[in-house]
Amino acid sequence: MDIRQRSLAELEELFKEMGEAKFRAKQVYEWLWQKGVRSFDAMTNLSKSLREKLAASFVINGIVEDKVQRSADGTIKSRFRLHDGHMIESVLIPVPDDKRFTVCVSCQVGCSLTCKFCATGRMNRVRNLDAAEIYDQVVMVNQQCLETFGHPLSNIVYMGMGEPLLAYNNVMESIERLTAPDGLHMSPRRITISTAGIAKMIKKLADDGCKTNLALSLHAADDLKRDELMPINEQNNLAVLMDALEYFYRKTHNRISYEYITFQNVNDGLDDAANLAKLCRRFPVRVNIIEYNPIGDVPYLKSEEDRIDAFARYLREREITVTVRRSRGKDIDAACGQLANKE
Ligand code: SF4
Repeated sequence: MDIRQRSLAELEELFKEMGEAKFRAKQVYEWLWQKGVRSFDAMTNLSKSLREKLAASFVINGIVEDKVQRSADGTIKSRFRLHDGHMIESVLIPVPDDKRFTVCVSCQVGCSLTCKFCATGRMNRVRNLDAAEIYDQVVMVNQQCLETFGHPLSNIVYMGMGEPLLAYNNVMESIERLTAPDGLHMSPRRITISTAGIAKMIKKLADDGCKTNLALSLHAADDLKRDELMPINEQNNLAVLMDALEYFYRKTHNRISYEYITFQNVNDGLDDAANLAKLCRRFPVRVNIIEYNPIGDVPYLKSEEDRIDAFARYLREREITVTVRRSRGKDIDAACGQLANKE
């Protein structure tokens, strides 16, 4: 069994049964979640016999770096092998001028949702990642960030492979480990969970006292178009989603953003911008417009720049906070919707 499946309380109980002092459990816990070690031998303040006992009963199923690709724009995509041989990908997106270094982590192997523009959605869902596998991505990419840019990660986004709200418990547990004082002690305000839109789970996030930011992958501001792009919309239409988001906002006051990939002549007209503006009135929200990266045989194209500019201007004129994110890491298939373990 992976020792990281055990809570601190469970470890303390176990150590008591083993005749070990309670504080030893805390030491092990800190090695695992604060220092991120991958072997019992590295736990140097434990006796050799205790390390051997632990190694005889437990494993530490760390993820292993399999391949690293570096984009001309500084973006770094890493492929990691899981203990059962499956592969996942994480992306480091650096903006050195702003001292912003963001990791985009995966939470599932594949994805059960079938968003039409997304490469991951074609892989089917194989399994959820456990909390440790999500945590490991942050630790390893943080190391990569320090080595490459001399700076630690500043932000974490759950926007890689998979739908975070369908791996709910493991995602929440990973956030607990990332933010806890005896974990990595990162600020939840620097973490964003991104969802394709599962209304009842958005409400659950609010009820569970979520402290992170929330992003909705919106991509269309009317149901007909959204049904087409994201079949999940058929069970979670925009009215239902807006109710859930308003509930989330009223309960948490955490930041909400809409992610909006523009597709040429599909969702990038001024009529679309007008529909989107209406969805920005109920609660404070910011809009991130994202350039599309075609993934081969899908019928969508990247919007022309002047259409994106006009779209963004329409929203800004209505005092909506908008950022336009030019695509990063396209040359290494690391951009939004491109994570699919190509090889
Ligand atoms: S966009 Fe996200 S939710 Fe949709 S198929 Fe891709 S990984 Fe899944």
